[in-house]
Amino acid sequence: MALENRYLREVYEQVCKKDPDQKEFQQAVYEVLQSFEPVIVKTPALFENGLLERLVEPERLVTFRVAWVDDRGKTQVNRAFRCQFNSAIGPYKGGLRFHPSVNTSIIKFLGFEQIFKNSLTGLPMGGGKGGSDFDPKGKSDVEVMRFAQAFMTEMSKYIGADTDIPAGDIGVGAREIGYLFGQYKRIRNEFTGVLTGKGLAFGGSLVRKEATGYGLLYFVQEALATMRNETMKDKITVISGSGNVALYAAEKAQQLGARVVAMSDSAGFIYDPNGVRVEVVKQLKEVERARISKYAELVPGSEYHEGCRRIWQIPCDVALPCATQNELDGEDAKALLKNGVIAVCEGANMPCTPEAVDAFLAEKIVFSPGKASNAGGVATSGLEMCQNSERCCWTAEEVDTRLQQIMISIFHNVFDAAKEYGMEGNLVAGANIAGFLKVASAMQAQGIF
Ligand code: NDP
Repeated sequence: MALENRYLREVYEQVCKKDPDQKEFQQAVYEVLQSFEPVIVKTPALFENGLLERLVEPERLVTFRVAWVDDRGKTQVNRAFRCQFNSAIGPYKGGLRFHPSVNTSIIKFLGFEQIFKNSLTGLPMGGGKGGSDFDPKGKSDVEVMRFAQAFMTEMSKYIGADTDIPAGDIGVGAREIGYLFGQYKRIRNEFTGVLTGKGLAFGGSLVRKEATGYGLLYFVQEALATMRNETMKDKITVISGSGNVALYAAEKAQQLGARVVAMSDSAGFIYDPNGVRVEVVKQLKEVERARISKYAELVPGSEYHEGCRRIWQIPCDVALPCATQNELDGEDAKALLKNGVIAVCEGANMPCTPEAVDAFLAEKIVFSPGKASNAGGVATSGLEMCQNSERCCWTAEEVDTRLQQIMISIFHNVFDAAKEYGMEGNLVAGANIAGFLKVASAMQAQGIF
């Protein structure tokens, strides 16, 4: 779909002209701008003072070198980033990704999405993102520690508990957050809530580890109930990935009565018609750091298939892409729709290509963008920040109850915004609009910056 409004089109063209090689960032901006067509007609004042030109330009983007020494004594050099995209409604907040594919475009796309996601949570958090092209796979624990320490030595200059609070993302789990936190404390001699996703022994929150996956299912549950009068009970469910988001999405889906029949990693997928044994996948991925292929060796009746794309050919009622960006394309969407999928909800950030999103919206199935349905992770990070500021710890029940309330409220804000702007059932438009309205009014109120 082309952008009809001239201002929206010009802003998008400028983004493409300024950074022609940043395809993921362009994709994210386009998807958001598309949703603003009815908003600009209804409330043009919100777009005054170059609002959109400011919105698409990060407030600050730091690129830095990370030099570290591997186990053979050889010096390695990686490139790292911290993008402080928008602080209109709170300090920058967003994860760190360690993966060889990390570059400026990926970090900017993730930081941009984070602005709207954080706004949707209802908590006072601005948008940011960071990471490095470092690949933790195949590295020893000590190498990961040395890298994390070198990374934090530089990043510590730009972050702070009231300025910018990073967390985990792909390749950055509990182990990495521990090393990063230790180094920050060493450099600053401060015990602060500067990172979230911390270990429970040093300021972490109960349920943070589970929050993105659990939150996704709370969102799906509310969407199915409101839009289709259905529940997750007995729904055949396919989940891509087997990392933090996917594992806890699978666990909660099963608790809600669904049958999860497939999961994947970057090498291939497992199919288990009897229902994936999540505790086995957890042991393999969280403890042994093994490949998911090993599951088929351990669990009779299951199969392993090389390559992850064909996971979307498996007939299912609910599909939850929880691995990475652009992992589900137009052809995959056609296969899912042909097999009767009723809901596709993103656990990862932008896992569906624009063609896939258009296909789901055209068929009017339940489709939710990551910035709405995976917001439970950052929301619980926000709750971790509250606990750190109060110097206290809430019970798992308390955090989980708040997470559920936040996800239900996100769904209804998104659903209602879409309806108000004449696009009932379009959760993509609803999420962009609901997230934007708050950020835009905060930016206008604070003067031009
Ligand atoms: P993890 O590193 O824990 O897991 C990532 C999973 O995706 C792994 O199974 C990995 O396989 C797979 N994967 C990674 N890259 C690719 C690829 N190029 N192709 C296919 N599979 C791939 O990350 P998370 O679970 O934390 O994050 C997953 C997604 O969710 C990301 O998009 C992230 O931005 C998003 N997200 C995460 C949040 C969080 O709280 N962690 C919050 C909100 C969003 P392998 O093991 O082989 O690498």
